[in-house]
Amino acid sequence: MNIVIFGAPGSGKGTQSDKLIEHYNLFHISTGDVLRDNMRRGTELGKIAKGYIDQGQLVPDELIIDLLAQVLDENKENAADGVIFDGYPRTIPQAEALEQLLADRGTQVDAVVGLEVPDEELIKRILLRGQLSGRADDNEETARKRLEVYYNQTSPLKAYYEEQGKYLAINGLGTIDGIFDLIRQELDNL
Ligand code: AMP
Repeated sequence: MNIVIFGAPGSGKGTQSDKLIEHYNLFHISTGDVLRDNMRRGTELGKIAKGYIDQGQLVPDELIIDLLAQVLDENKENAADGVIFDGYPRTIPQAEALEQLLADRGTQVDAVVGLEVPDEELIKRILLRGQLSGRADDNEETARKRLEVYYNQTSPLKAYYEEQGKYLAINGLGTIDGIFDLIRQELDNL
């Protein structure tokens, strides 16, 4: 089972990914985590990515698509039972590339879990996360920029996956366990 966990920044993708991994034995790929790891290690990719991340902008598609292909190749065995894609795809070209990458490996996206949360709640959560984790892009100015980027570049993916009958709308307001129960009900019905 390959799942995309989808939603605006602060919608709870990382938190719900942790629960999904545990419950369904999936391999977690978070492009944001991979980029932050590169930034910490000071790699060439990390240096390039930092310029975009600090501005709340998306890292260019070519770099992210190559990165994803590399992570998939390095984790063939870990990913054998399926993958949860967290923070990827964020653009239509990334979704098309994912389709191709998975088709080349004899598999596909089975479902897209869309966490739907109102904007003001998103900003509140991002600022709280910034206080707890120290993530540099979790400040109010960058958060508002990231939301704008989400609506312009990422939210069209909802219609893209709805057309494929893969989009599962989940109310992302509530307790962590309550939201996870909603996701589980949807996935267990597939
Ligand atoms: P995240 O941890 O998913 O919120 O990602 C943090 C930042 O990393 C984003 O604001 C982007 O700058 C960058 N990023 C992560 N994933 C992607 C992606 N799939 N495409 C482009 N940029 C990404």
